[in-house]
Amino acid sequence: MHNDTIAAATDLSWQEQALCAQTGSDFFFPEPGSSVREAKQICGLCEMRSACLAYALSNDERFGVWGGLSEKERLGLRRAQQWDDA
Ligand code: SF4
Repeated sequence: MHNDTIAAATDLSWQEQALCAQTGSDFFFPEPGSSVREAKQICGLCEMRSACLAYALSNDERFGVWGGLSEKERLGLRRAQQWDDA
C-alpha cells in the first residue's frame, strides 16, 4: 500500500470540511435504485472530493456516494487499478 493511501485511510480531518456534513447523509445513501444525481452535484462542489474518494477506496466503502462516485463507479475504478497493478 502506498504511503499516501495509508495517510488517506487514517486521516479523517477532511471530514470537517465535507459538504455532505452540512446537507445530511440522505442524498449520499439513497434507497436502492434511487438517483444519486443530487449527491454527485454536491460532491462536485466539495473541496474534499479527492480525500473523500481516496478514503473510500482505501477502506473499501461499498455503499453510497463517496468523492462523487457511485458504488458501481468505485467498483469499476478499483478493478481498473487492480488491472494496472497486475
Ligand atoms: S466529496 Fe461528496 S461525499 Fe465526499 S465529503 Fe464531499 S460532499 Fe461528502
